[in-house]
Amino acid sequence: MSEYLALRRNPSTLVIVCSQLSYEGWATQELGLGPLDVKLISVAGGPAALAHGDLVATDYTRMCECVSFLLAEFPSIHTVIGINHGNNGRKGGCGYYEKVLKIVGGEKSDLPKIARQLAILAKDKTIRTFYAGLVETGGSKVVFEEVFAA
Ligand SMILES: [Zn+2]
Repeated sequence: MSEYLALRRNPSTLVIVCSQLSYEGWATQELGLGPLDVKLISVAGGPAALAHGDLVATDYTRMCECVSFLLAEFPSIHTVIGINHGNNGRKGGCGYYEKVLKIVGGEKSDLPKIARQLAILAKDKTIRTFYAGLVETGGSKVVFEEVFAA
């Protein structure tokens, strides 16, 4: 039997991301965040439900509860990052938008609303939202673009 460290008590950043997306390399390279810096919410659709409480009330409520819980549990968190991913307005982007929300192309345009919702939930934190768009060449790569609250 081996023992492992169970919890990191002082993460700096809460990242909310769709479980479809691999963001770790970008987070490490561009943001300088390692796995021990991040408290992660990885669910289908990532933060998308925060923009669509009317369509997915249960997911919206659950996301709000998760964010509030983790911010209370880990007071070291000073930054909250929401990441949506898509295919630049075409089909084949985030499956949550297509299959659950039944919306094509909202992944980027929803980010200002998501940022405002996160700012309500995390009043004293830095809020950043990013759009991860598939690159044209076969969709095997993504580029991350910061999108600010309006
Ligand atoms: Zn997705």
